[in-house]
Amino acid sequence: MRFRLILPVLAVILSSLPAQYEGAKPVPQGLKKGFASISPDYCEEILSYLAGPECQGRGTGTDGYQKAADFVAARFKEFGLKPIGEKGTYFQHVPFTVARTDPKSHLKFRNLKLRCGEHVAFRAADVETEAEVVFVTGGFQFLLETPTKLNRRIVILHGDVTRRSSGVRRQMRRNRPAAILAVADSVQKPVWTPSSRRRRRTTQVNGSITLAAAKRLAKAIGVGERALTVAEGEEDGNVTTPASGRNVALVVKKETKSRGVPNVVGLLEGSDPKLKKQTVIAGSHLDHLGVGTNGVVYPGADDDGSGSAALVALARALSKNPRKPKRSVLFLAFCGEERGLVGSRYYTDHPIIPLEDAICELQMDMVGRNEEHHPSENRTNEKGEDNVKTTHLIGSKRISQELHETVLAMNEHIGFTLEYDQEGVYTRSDHYMFARKGIPISFFFSGFHKDYHRPSDTVDKINFTKIANTAKLVYLTVHAVGNKPHRLKRERKSR
Ligand SMILES: [Zn+2]
Repeated sequence: MRFRLILPVLAVILSSLPAQYEGAKPVPQGLKKGFASISPDYCEEILSYLAGPECQGRGTGTDGYQKAADFVAARFKEFGLKPIGEKGTYFQHVPFTVARTDPKSHLKFRNLKLRCGEHVAFRAADVETEAEVVFVTGGFQFLLETPTKLNRRIVILHGDVTRRSSGVRRQMRRNRPAAILAVADSVQKPVWTPSSRRRRRTTQVNGSITLAAAKRLAKAIGVGERALTVAEGEEDGNVTTPASGRNVALVVKKETKSRGVPNVVGLLEGSDPKLKKQTVIAGSHLDHLGVGTNGVVYPGADDDGSGSAALVALARALSKNPRKPKRSVLFLAFCGEERGLVGSRYYTDHPIIPLEDAICELQMDMVGRNEEHHPSENRTNEKGEDNVKTTHLIGSKRISQELHETVLAMNEHIGFTLEYDQEGVYTRSDHYMFARKGIPISFFFSGFHKDYHRPSDTVDKINFTKIANTAKLVYLTVHAVGNKPHRLKRERKSR
């Protein structure tokens, strides 16, 4: 019985412990209520939806992205933010051309038809051809003795040869097949996604095929399942081609249409009748990479589910706190960031509130992990366990030294160990679109990790205390910048 009595008391003591890092100053007077509302648990609740199964990796233009946008808009409504989007909504639609593979696309040999979305999946392309099939089954290092065999063929890869930069993948750059299909556990139905701004060569088909379908095709063209196994004594791999003349028909078509995809926008009005015309902007990108043609979801828990969860927690905190900043606060969750900052470019070219009234933009993108070594993005030997309390402050002094100093002063109440060794990512998130217009920015970024842009960027690896503390740092910065008697001083026009 005693434990039952003691436990609630313990819980009260634990929940009243300060959530900032060790040695941090107490929260400024008048800001406590909002500050205390930003908890790791709340951030986890929001992120679990955004990076969960419903949102399917939030690919711009997909249904999963729309669900994430609806979810954030519903939170903005719950907090009483002003809907400043189109027709009294929280949406500003950004025009995209979306494309998908025509679901009637297929591979066909005599009576055997392998259908798109069932047996095979293709990236959108326009190709109609007849070609011989070559099966290449083998390891990462495996190389063909006569790679010219791959020229203009339909190549089916199985095993570690399917991996990026495998020996055979490299050989295929010079000996271009008509199609490259990797054997996968499952294939995805065609989905609408924005077409790339870069003109991709669409003369080559890329995609996936299920193992069962690959076996049926092998059997039909008379090479047998042997083509999909590596026998003992041939450790590296094997290449199997059918008798000549057994051409397979490949038909892949691309459909396009235009579709508006929303940036989610909300406003908290400032408390000062004059200064409320000006805005402090907080931003994140709501989109991520969606689903690959092999059906694998990229949840983007850190990138940028973490910043979007922080944005929601920030909006909630500012609306809960009785004392509001004098200037207004504009919340922007962008689409199309992973497509090349498309949503933020559109916003800054079509601002809802004039950009001359923007004081600064505070961007939270990847704020929920402990930085560690990454083969191309972070070649240091940093380990996650040494970065539990670190985050990066990027670009904050490029336009306004005063913004930088304000963030540093507010961090005394949080206690992050701030790092400055990732300035190279300055142009790589939405804040840059504001900087190019001369608006001071500060980009909060906890750093790269091995799951960056991989399906393994999942919720279970997130440091929720770090997300909450980032939201708290931005919360205090918004108040500080929003209450200054003057606009932030700017030393430089842009960058
Ligand atoms: Zn990102």
